[in-house]
Amino acid sequence: MNIRTNRTIFLFGLILIILFPFIYKISFEKLKMVSSVFFVDSTTTGELKEKYNEDKKIKILLVPGHDSESGGTVFKNIKESELNLRLSRELYSFLSSNPRFEVESSRDDSGYNKNITEYMSINKASIEDFIKSKKNVMQGLLSSGDISIAEGVIHNTAPEEIAKRLYSINKWSNENNIDLVIHIHFNDHPGRKINKEGKYSGFSIYTPEKQFSNAKASRELADYILKNIDHFYSKSNMPKERLGVIEDQELIALGSYNTLDSIGLLIEYGYIYEPQFTESSTRNLIIKDMAYQTYLGITDFFDKKEYLGEYWKSTLLPHSWSDIVESGDKGHDILSLQVALVLEGFYPPKKFLSDDCPVTGIYKRCTTEAVKEFQKRYKITTTGRVGPKTMEKLNQLYSKVTSD
Ligand SMILES: [Zn+2]
Repeated sequence: MNIRTNRTIFLFGLILIILFPFIYKISFEKLKMVSSVFFVDSTTTGELKEKYNEDKKIKILLVPGHDSESGGTVFKNIKESELNLRLSRELYSFLSSNPRFEVESSRDDSGYNKNITEYMSINKASIEDFIKSKKNVMQGLLSSGDISIAEGVIHNTAPEEIAKRLYSINKWSNENNIDLVIHIHFNDHPGRKINKEGKYSGFSIYTPEKQFSNAKASRELADYILKNIDHFYSKSNMPKERLGVIEDQELIALGSYNTLDSIGLLIEYGYIYEPQFTESSTRNLIIKDMAYQTYLGITDFFDKKEYLGEYWKSTLLPHSWSDIVESGDKGHDILSLQVALVLEGFYPPKKFLSDDCPVTGIYKRCTTEAVKEFQKRYKITTTGRVGPKTMEKLNQLYSKVTSD
């Protein structure tokens, strides 16, 4: 190397050192700008609680999945879209009982919410742009490595029309300052035969993958709802759903491509072929109670202390029993019996897992064993059936709210 080359290298190095702070700043600013939509929380639990405590209305949008045309999954004569609608209506009425919540539903018996339908028809072009630009940002961030793909549970891809509607709901929610968007669904096991039950059961709550800007607050709400539903009902036993709360990057409902600013949750309340949903004598009772558990979870998220006084935290109690029930029976009496046994700590009974003993309203081995434990506690002959003495004890404990 001669002196000239050395001098050139020296000068070049010097220029780089002088310019470094500027180059660094420019690329850093650029990165910050592009990724701000992703890495800054679009909603926080703190802000929401503050709003709630200041007596400002918390705006909630319920989205019962599918509709009469695209009914979601079907089992025998049961349509998912109808179960979703029923659950949504129950949740709507529980939430509306709290004056701090302002609740809206994306559809009801008479069809889609007029505000949203109108919004969709007026804003066709800007909705298209919204979807395109959000996708571009995400694709850019994925290729630069600033965010990464998270493999999750595989879902059916929504048909284009439905996908557009879901993105429109996200955009509409962003523009109307909705605080919580809750999508209501019932699950299905894609591998099952027509009219045959599939192998999984239980509920699951889907929440935005942690890189999304609405992820943190959504996750916190999901955990509160999980705790309440899990008190009486079983989490999904599908391996990827086992934890009860599952992060997801692909569901539009939760804000895929970071399209939703508010909290977004999608709750699968159970598998459509589970006996408690196929049995007409218990279906509506259990749907109402699951809606109630969801409502308690939302209330806990905002104000844990306010509802500590709730008595049994279930709509299935108080209940009075007037008929003898035993193995093979099903219906309201059994459903309320199982809930009482959960509260006694006997359901699932010893040596059983909650997967094996879901609350179904059907009197089988789990209930027989749990009734035996109940009888032991209250010194009643252990028959495993609810005879007059057991019924009397149940009525004494669970047929009315006492003041002491
Ligand atoms: Zn569905």
